[in-house]
Amino acid sequence: MAAWLSPSPEALDPAADRGAERAAMVAEQLQVRDIRDARVLAAMATVPRHRFVPEGVQAEAYADCPLPIGHGQTISQPYIVALMTELLGLRPTDRVLEIGTGCGYQTAVLAALVREVCTVERVEGLARTAGARLAALGMTRSPCGWATAGRAGRTGPFDGILVTAAPDRLPAALGAQLAPGGRLVIPLGGRPLQWLHRFTREADGCLRDEELIPVRFVPLV
Ligand code: SAH
Repeated sequence: MAAWLSPSPEALDPAADRGAERAAMVAEQLQVRDIRDARVLAAMATVPRHRFVPEGVQAEAYADCPLPIGHGQTISQPYIVALMTELLGLRPTDRVLEIGTGCGYQTAVLAALVREVCTVERVEGLARTAGARLAALGMTRSPCGWATAGRAGRTGPFDGILVTAAPDRLPAALGAQLAPGGRLVIPLGGRPLQWLHRFTREADGCLRDEELIPVRFVPLV
């Protein structure tokens, strides 16, 4: 008997691609907490998080927790992704730098909101898989590529910078890439206690530092 290949129902109907689970995630994990930015909520309701995590944890993709993504790294819980994104206060014309592509999920959320996302990942295997996933979802490669560690410094300044791994203190080179009015969101400090910070480039050129909530991230290497 001949076997015929046909598009999966999911490919034909994006809303069927676990859209109900995403809607529940947005309502029960984001809106009931403090996420208010309508564009961020829409991006979180659209980007298929389950497509970015390893097969073994896909069933848990929309749960209220971080998940392992291989190479000893983790994808943040949905609320933390949404919060960090909202804190950047992004506009459609913005350019954003992300340090720590990981599985590419946060990259896809950012890419749904701004003109360009430059993302940097030091683990080559993660960068390659993330790039393939983003391309499969129709996201185009930015001029500085998915993984250009060491090169991003020449492509600033950025309106937003998001760091998803924790150094002890803000690397001066990162702060220097922030455009006037730009915002930089980063976890700072060693384990077990890290704090999420937002730095804003003020009109006088100074960086304003806000310490927000305790968080837990892998270290920036
Ligand atoms: N935003 C990611 C989170 C991944 S965890 C996601 O949605 O999946 C943080 C990532 O930062 C890890 O993949 C780790 O390899 C990477 N990383 C750590 N130090 C780095 C550095 N100096 N430059 C680039 N990536 C780094």
